[in-house]
Amino acid sequence: MTSIAIVGGGFAGVGAVAMLARAGYRDVVVFEKAERLGGVWHHNTYPGAACDIPSHLYEFSFALNPRWSRRYAPQEEIQAYIEAVAKPFDVRCGTEVTSARFEDGRWTLQTSAGEHTADVLLTACGQLSTPAVPPLPGLEDFAGPAFHTARWDHETDLDGKRVAVIGTGCSAIQVVPAIQPQVGHVTVFQRSPGWTIPKGDIPYPKWVQRLFARFPAVQRLDRSINFGFHELMTPALVRRIGPALRAARAVGKLQIRKAIKDPELRRKVTPTDEVGCKRIMLTDSWYPTLTKPNVDLTDARIERIGPHSIRTADGIEHPTDAIVLATGFRAHDFVAPMEITTEDRSLAQEWAGVPRAYLGITVPGFPNLFLLYGPNTNGGTGSVVTTIEAQITHVIAALAERDRAGARTIVVRPEVAAAFDAELRTALAGTVWHSGCTSWYVDEQGNDPSQWPWTWSEYRRRTATVDPEAYELA
Ligand code: NAP
Repeated sequence: MTSIAIVGGGFAGVGAVAMLARAGYRDVVVFEKAERLGGVWHHNTYPGAACDIPSHLYEFSFALNPRWSRRYAPQEEIQAYIEAVAKPFDVRCGTEVTSARFEDGRWTLQTSAGEHTADVLLTACGQLSTPAVPPLPGLEDFAGPAFHTARWDHETDLDGKRVAVIGTGCSAIQVVPAIQPQVGHVTVFQRSPGWTIPKGDIPYPKWVQRLFARFPAVQRLDRSINFGFHELMTPALVRRIGPALRAARAVGKLQIRKAIKDPELRRKVTPTDEVGCKRIMLTDSWYPTLTKPNVDLTDARIERIGPHSIRTADGIEHPTDAIVLATGFRAHDFVAPMEITTEDRSLAQEWAGVPRAYLGITVPGFPNLFLLYGPNTNGGTGSVVTTIEAQITHVIAALAERDRAGARTIVVRPEVAAAFDAELRTALAGTVWHSGCTSWYVDEQGNDPSQWPWTWSEYRRRTATVDPEAYELA
């Protein structure tokens, strides 16, 4: 019986253990370093945290949930959903895997609970798991509470406080409207604005939930419509189709004009870079919130943080009682800080330039290793949950191929991985993500270890089976 170790208990790890069980693999253990599983949905408990992909697309195809309370489910419902899916399986929370080494045909994991060996290793560490805290001068001197959105300090009472929110990405646009009614004052520190479109969130009344429960086909239809819509958006953004981009910009500008009367604030929040270069944000509340009397937005650069204030480059000192860092994630660390090695190489060294993997899943020289949500498997549209399912399907097909050949190891051929990588880089070159903006998709050198440049149907097609010529079995 093949034994499998999975590192990470978020959507990818939980999806993997569930799908592997359905494929007949029973000797599967998931290690999760946090005290609870859930990944980003366990860690991101900031006020207003919710999905910005319709929940009927942001769930497993084999575990439809008819009981989402809204079209875009809030964090606690998503967390409960992952926990329910994971319930029957061996998920060991509070156990960190520090290293994994492939030797004598098996993986040996060093964990905080001791050593563990397995035939096959799956990493499911997520791309947005390590908070990025920028080196803002003086941050360490700040006297009040300062925390990242993904590590929300629920002990801190923000009632009546002067709160600084740094960043204006997807997390900030959810958290600011949620805390605005409660705090004394919010100052939003914007470096560069992003494009938005309306979210159109609606509650699902009980009768609608009953309808989905009674007729799963209705829910599947909604799922397919959402998938199709995202698929249509993909080439528009990726191939930079003029009319589609113009339409998206017009929608964003209309949202700004409708909510904001002040021309100066309008100017500040209107992006100058191409729509889709940064991730498009879905919101109905961001711009109206910015017009509230207790909210200010500054686009002046942060010069220095003092014990009780933040000074910006325009010379203004902003009195501050608490700082919320909505500054995103170290998205390019992938499996780090876990060390993955074989007898003659280390993944960190292989990835010293740019992390690369065949279909984002397998790496030459690393047998029986499969990455979930690995390099270049993120999109500007679509649901990561459907991507993860495609990846697990590929893993199961690879394991079946290994069993069929009576082999112990399976590893992608270097020339196949190199040809795929060349094709990928060529396709990425002309995409909107490389049109000149700051985003977590692209690193400071302009390398792109994040994005998938084709549709998700194409990804599904490529990952659905295993080309025996692509892999070496031994
Ligand atoms: P993000 O999109 O990377 O945004 C980080 C923000 O911090 C940006 O506005 C950035 O400015 C700013 N920033 C970074 N360093 C700064 C510095 N030194 N000084 C001033 N500002 C700085 O991070 P995020 O909002 O946490 O979102 C990350 C991703 O998580 C999203 O793209 C999305 O995929 C996911 N997410 C999803 C949901 C959901 O609803 N499902 C919710 C939240 C997040 P620049 O733009 O100028 O770089």
